[in-house]
Amino acid sequence: MVSKQVVLITGSSTGFGRMIAESLARRGHTVFATMRDPGGRNATNASEIRALAKQESLALNVLELDVTNDVSVERAVNICVEHAGRMDIAINNAGYALIGLEEAVTTEQAQQIMDTNFFGSVRVNRAVLPHMRRQRGGLLLHISSGAGRIVFPAFGLYCASKFALEALAEAYHYELAAQGIESSIIEPGAYQTPVFGNIVKAADEDRTDTYGVAKQIPAKINHILTTTAGNPQEVADVVVSIVETPAGQRKLRYRVSPTDPGVDEINALCEHVQRRLFEASGIAADTAFVQRSAAGNA
Ligand code: NAD
Repeated sequence: MVSKQVVLITGSSTGFGRMIAESLARRGHTVFATMRDPGGRNATNASEIRALAKQESLALNVLELDVTNDVSVERAVNICVEHAGRMDIAINNAGYALIGLEEAVTTEQAQQIMDTNFFGSVRVNRAVLPHMRRQRGGLLLHISSGAGRIVFPAFGLYCASKFALEALAEAYHYELAAQGIESSIIEPGAYQTPVFGNIVKAADEDRTDTYGVAKQIPAKINHILTTTAGNPQEVADVVVSIVETPAGQRKLRYRVSPTDPGVDEINALCEHVQRRLFEASGIAADTAFVQRSAAGNA
């Protein structure tokens, strides 16, 4: 029998977050679908989720959480724990994309995307970990991207934010294993969600006057991504299966994509190199994750 989990998801008003929230709640898990401003800009999304919860008698709750705000993150996590008595899984999903040649991205825009896509997970993980440690278990799940392993020109800052997220999540994976807390990464390819409509454009276009043909790169990359995008329920289904995988058996990385640019190959090579590093540095003998790697689970 699948054990029921208490799950907090960021960025649940739309897209993957919303689908994951609804899919998990329908499987009987207790879900906190968090979002910015559920009483204002997301009021319609919030009331649709609440209506579904009522109609289907789901343990699906809406909470305010802005991943760029420490107070908001702490408050939401505390409410979840008070309400459900525990915190089993945090799904770091909130994020957005930024398109444009890198020189046209202002410093402020670069800081903003890192604040959401990377520091958001730093905040959420730090807020939930004391609760998971008290429970002696839990899962940090990170919605990264194929763009967290492969560089798409014109999406450089987005890639940087996801590469950073991958490093954070992987370091947590090694550091927390001995305490029974897991950290996993999902790397979706392109999927049809509102993400494409929410793409922020690099603000300093004048900087690209000298770029010649390279100026066409953003439109070309955008075209490739939008025309190959798949059904986002695939990602929600993978998340459900990870949530329902018994503790201790979850993998570090899960790739799910309608196309195959070779992310699995990168992951396999990186896993091999990491293992060599740990063996050479003597860290391997002391840590739980190496035993799991040896069993083919890391
Ligand atoms: P989406 O735009 O529907 O979802 C992103 C959600 O994050 C939105 O609901 C948005 O309101 C929320 N958000 C943005 N800033 C926030 C903040 N400061 N605090 C809280 N919430 C915030 O698009 P999506 O495709 O569902 O994106 C979800 C995640 O999946 C993102 O991290 C995205 O980078 C990643 N991703 C998407 C794709 C894709 O093709 N759709 C592919 C790979 C990865």
